[in-house]
Amino acid sequence: MKLHEYQSKIIFSRYGIPIPKGRVASTAGDAKIIANELGGRVVIKAQVLVGGRGKAGGIRVAKDADEAEQLATQILAMEIKGLPVRKVLVDEAAAIEQEIYLGITNDRSAKKPVIMASAAGGVEIEEIARTNPEKIVKVHINPLIGIKDYQTRDIASSIDLPREYWKSFSEILHGLWQAYESNDATLAEINPLIISKDKKLVALDGKMLIDDNALFRHPDLAEMRDTDEDAPSEVEARKYGLTFIKLDGNIGCMVNGAGLAMASMDILKYFGGEPANFLDIGGGAGADKVAAALRIIVSDANVKAILLNIFGGITRCDEVARGILTAIADVKLKAPMVVRLVGTNAEEGRQMLASANLITAETLADAAQKAVAAAKGA
Ligand code: GDP
Ligand code: MN
Repeated sequence: MKLHEYQSKIIFSRYGIPIPKGRVASTAGDAKIIANELGGRVVIKAQVLVGGRGKAGGIRVAKDADEAEQLATQILAMEIKGLPVRKVLVDEAAAIEQEIYLGITNDRSAKKPVIMASAAGGVEIEEIARTNPEKIVKVHINPLIGIKDYQTRDIASSIDLPREYWKSFSEILHGLWQAYESNDATLAEINPLIISKDKKLVALDGKMLIDDNALFRHPDLAEMRDTDEDAPSEVEARKYGLTFIKLDGNIGCMVNGAGLAMASMDILKYFGGEPANFLDIGGGAGADKVAAALRIIVSDANVKAILLNIFGGITRCDEVARGILTAIADVKLKAPMVVRLVGTNAEEGRQMLASANLITAETLADAAQKAVAAAKGA
């Protein structure tokens, strides 16, 4: 899950990282009020969940509250990389002496978190990572020990940070690690961390990614999710606790169990088909969940055939059939559906579906071949 800049900075400030004063606004009028509170000179920052807002014109400095209102009007009317701007952060404007990059992420190959820092922070950091990777210092963190002071000094020295900022830098890096670790983040990044003209280190930008699989431990963070920018099908799937990933093919799949879902996709491919999605309805899914899953699959215009593959263990095949019948009653099935039901109450399930004009199959191979043929219009 991605957090907005304003959300990331609120979290950072809880761990002692200095951030500019400011607040988020969804109208230009509110932006003006906030600008007045902050003394007029502010920066208006588009809150969209993509990088490179600065280069896209989504970050503008205003000299007074009236200009803040004008710029907020413009920015709130923008789309950045296809995402409409719905909120702006209005922050006290900073006078920048230097921009530093500081981030923590997981280094999968090292199996450890890694700190990355560079004296050349700012909007060109990706370019620098490509062309001058030696300008980015990397130091691994032992997750059981955390960050040690010698490491923060080492990094400060490697990026030629003047001595007077080392203490503050160390506190910021410790705070960033705390923010990363305590919130199960997969990225916590400050770009730029600035040295201001009045000789302070301040986090001018903030970005956090939170591990979705850890959100159950962080209900406060889960609430911060901005669903405006997710695919509607994924939002719907999340609401019903379905594991759903959209893919590029044309055979919609509804399966119970991740392993069976993978096997179903493999066998579809084996017979020359392309899955339109991965969808695991999970164990013990009731009719509601099954109906939601079918609605999600049917809403994908690419879907030319549907494969329903259920192995009834904890999940009861009659419940699944009931869900299918419920869903068919309110969404029109435009694509043929191949059904394979085995296990608990399979016979009852099949009988319930007998009247529904579906293609039935006995084995997974048979079902896959029928689904591939149906998708090809055979
Ligand atoms: P990003 O482009 O999405 O990473 O957005 P940032 O928040 O990092 O802003 C991009 C750039 O805008 C920064 O690198 C700064 O150079 C500039 N910027 C952001 N806030 C301020 C500010 O308060 N004052 C000044 N002068 N420049 C700013
Ligand atoms: Mn940035």
